[in-house]
Amino acid sequence: MTMKSEKDIQKTLEARHLGEALPPVFVDDMLMSLKYYIDEDEAHLWIKDHAVCKTCSGNGCLYFCPVGVYTMSEEGKIQVSYQSCIECGSCRIRCEKDNIGWKNPRGGFGVAYKFG
Ligand code: SF4
Ligand code: SF4
Repeated sequence: MTMKSEKDIQKTLEARHLGEALPPVFVDDMLMSLKYYIDEDEAHLWIKDHAVCKTCSGNGCLYFCPVGVYTMSEEGKIQVSYQSCIECGSCRIRCEKDNIGWKNPRGGFGVAYKFG
């Protein structure tokens, strides 16, 4: 994967401002520009009831999270890697059973966006 430099990203933003044709933007590159302040003591995401996940037909969380926070263990249990969360909020509305607990990270923790 080729990573974009801060200079390249700045050029993209300037081109957008001037209404010029934009160069391609790669989401993976943008994700690399994020900073994470991980709260090791308190998760801001959790599964409310694992038994409810067993009744879920699509296991949508395995697909809709853009950064793959949710995975299925070999034992068939949903696991939550909350440390990678970019706080997009999709799981608050997309879990078909409303079975994902979500709150904002504590002050000083969470993801920091450099641009936008
Ligand atoms: S979408 Fe919701 S209910 Fe379904 S497996 Fe994921 S967390 Fe559980
Ligand atoms: S808020 Fe977005 S990035 Fe975070 S776990 Fe939910 S879907 Fe994934």
